[in-house]
Amino acid sequence: MSEQTVSTVYFTNFQARPGTSVLQKLERLIRAAGIGAIDMEKKMVAIKIHFGEPGNLAYLRPNYAKVVADVVKSLGGMPFLTDCNTLYVGRRKNALDHMDAAYENGFSPFSTGCHVIIADGLKGTDDVEVPVRGGEYVQTAKIGRAIMDADVFISLSHFKGHESTGFGGAIKNIGMGCGSRRGKMEQHNAGKPTVDPKLCRGCHVCAKNCAHDAISFTEGKASIDHSKCVGCGRCIGACNFDAVYNGNWAANAQLNRKMAEYAKAVVDGRPHFHISLVMDVSPYCDCHAESDVPIVPDVGMFASFDPVALDQACADACQAQPVIGGSLLDERMRAPGFVDRGDIFTNTTPESEWKSCLEHAEKIGLGSRAYEVKVVK
Ligand code: SF4
Ligand code: SF4
Repeated sequence: MSEQTVSTVYFTNFQARPGTSVLQKLERLIRAAGIGAIDMEKKMVAIKIHFGEPGNLAYLRPNYAKVVADVVKSLGGMPFLTDCNTLYVGRRKNALDHMDAAYENGFSPFSTGCHVIIADGLKGTDDVEVPVRGGEYVQTAKIGRAIMDADVFISLSHFKGHESTGFGGAIKNIGMGCGSRRGKMEQHNAGKPTVDPKLCRGCHVCAKNCAHDAISFTEGKASIDHSKCVGCGRCIGACNFDAVYNGNWAANAQLNRKMAEYAKAVVDGRPHFHISLVMDVSPYCDCHAESDVPIVPDVGMFASFDPVALDQACADACQAQPVIGGSLLDERMRAPGFVDRGDIFTNTTPESEWKSCLEHAEKIGLGSRAYEVKVVK
């Protein structure tokens, strides 16, 4: 796709006056955006979603997933909700825990009308090596098998901030989210964080969050063994004292570019469609077992065949919002010595290099950063 291509992104806001609901608006949005053009008759349709780490309340409610699953069924398809296991410690690191977490957060066949399938199997090892056409960093992406076995791919993403990539939207949901454990490791391991001993309070929270036993303590201060660390970045978000930092700024750019290449591997060669809800824009991702005050107000729902245009449109819409008082972003902007880096995601997470993802995604032909918005009432 050339840089001149202008993709269409459909949008509707969250206003729901008596007589219509947000769920009805979501259905209108995705039908107006053309989901019906995909041949789903008797096709298995993967709906990639994040079920939310238990404790987090910002993840998308199952009600939204039901709308998408019902539309798929109305088109003759057989939908299932899916995600892959995580790299880090938590309640979604194997399929049993992950399904428990999904059910606990409300994603049951009763609420959504379809099953939950953890795509990379019981322990995150069931993947397929998928060549990346046009890839520069990844030869073969390691993608959860059930996702690759599906005939049609749909992403249903919660658009919010992210501690490593600035924001998490469609490309993050697809690229990182569909990677098996070794796939996630391949995307993450260019950047390995470091602890600033001057800021470290020795609280051990980082070590409790490290699944790779990479953090040890000397004289009460944490330090990271880079031979054990896989660069998942979990400890960066876990530290409440900003003592863990990514010392290699180029690494996040590389993570972003690898993520775009993984996303391309997932969608290439089969019908795909993408939906993002810009709501509860917490500063960090839904992998956290908590969700902080949103950094900006809810914006609305977006849908497109182009995941790059979709992410760009969602990011631009967030930039146009006022900063919410009491949020992490608000605190950072009020802190002494604050340097305005010009956008809300970089001001929240200065090392995120989020634009590198969209630039690279466009370069390798995943989609276009140029878009037009069509508003659906
Ligand atoms: S979480 Fe932060 S303050 Fe606590 S031990 Fe780890 S680096 Fe130090
Ligand atoms: S030390 Fe490395 S492996 Fe452990 S949480 Fe931090 S980034 Fe992840």
